[in-house]
Amino acid sequence: MNPNLGRQKAFELIIIGGGPAGMTAGVYAARKKIRALLITKELGGQPLKAPIIENYLGYQYISGYELVEKFKEHLKFFDLQIKNDEVIKVNPLKDGFKVETVSGRIFSAKALIVATGKSARQLGVPGEKEFRGKGVTHCATCDAPLFQGQAVAVAGGETKSLETALQLANYCPKVYLISPHPWVANEILKKKVKNEPKIFPLTGYQIIEIKGYQFVEEVKVKNLSTAEERSLPVKGVFVESGYKPNSNFVSHFVKLNQKGEIIVNCQGETNYPGLFAAGDVTNVPDKQIIIAAGEGAKAALNASSYLIAKK
Ligand SMILES: Cc1cc2nc3c(=O)[nH]c(=O)nc-3n(C[C@H](O)[C@H](O)[C@H](O)COP(=O)(O)OP(=O)(O)OC[C@H]3O[C@@H](n4cnc5c(N)ncnc54)[C@H](O)[C@@H]3O)c2cc1C
Repeated sequence: MNPNLGRQKAFELIIIGGGPAGMTAGVYAARKKIRALLITKELGGQPLKAPIIENYLGYQYISGYELVEKFKEHLKFFDLQIKNDEVIKVNPLKDGFKVETVSGRIFSAKALIVATGKSARQLGVPGEKEFRGKGVTHCATCDAPLFQGQAVAVAGGETKSLETALQLANYCPKVYLISPHPWVANEILKKKVKNEPKIFPLTGYQIIEIKGYQFVEEVKVKNLSTAEERSLPVKGVFVESGYKPNSNFVSHFVKLNQKGEIIVNCQGETNYPGLFAAGDVTNVPDKQIIIAAGEGAKAALNASSYLIAKK
């Protein structure tokens, strides 16, 4: 380990986020010999939650964990500094950016790539945090088989929530689909859900509490028009209320769309010179590993051109 690593706080490029977009940007930046730092809460990102990946070129079938291990192995070949930390603040400087982390570190760089992906929206109700991993989950793909033969609830009324309810109906005798608003999905999907006898739609209802002992035992729901409250006996709560892009820390100077995604052009440039973005945190519509990786590569190549032009 080089003892000088970590002392140098000014970089040419800082990449924030170590998912497929950030890791690929790291490889491209290192190959361009840019003095770069990658700051990430953890290396891997969302693929760590994917049990099976069947659409990343070169692998017909691979688990998310294994794919991330391969990405990490590849990164080791390059001279890229990596810090495990969470960025909480970014501010523009006269000639670059100041980046602050939750652990109190401060870095600066002439260019930035934001590749912080997206996170599942929380319900924000009592019991949600306490029972996370003990019945409360965000991943039907990972956890549906664990609830075989049990009653479960799905929170949300978007495409993903409806798909999750259908997926769960393959395992569970009763699937409550709890949505505060009318479903937002295509008609074919809505029809499929309506025709599935194991799905019990509760539209116009909101989950107000998740209760249990060691594991989830019930959800309390409230009818939003009548204020009537009901308890539903369930062993699992699948929170499928959508995702939010992790873009808060740049929202005071970078243009976002209505969903909170960072708006980029086809070169990964944002409206702010020197600030690039890639992957699920951006307005690029398709959220996939191969797309995030490609966008990360583009952002790094264009950041490199930006840095050369500034010299
Ligand atoms: C369960 C599941 C299954 C999936 N299956 C597939 C599949 O089969 N095929 C496919 O192509 N795609 C799949 N996806 C989608 C795919 O994983 C994403 O599109 C892809 O990971 C996006 O990459 P990203 O680098 O943009 O963001 P992410 O993977 O979200 O990575 C973002 C990184 O940034 C870090 N970060 C966030 N905020 C900060 C901060 N403030 N400071 C520092 N670091 C931060 C995070 O910790 C994370 O490491 C799946 C997703 C999920 C959740």
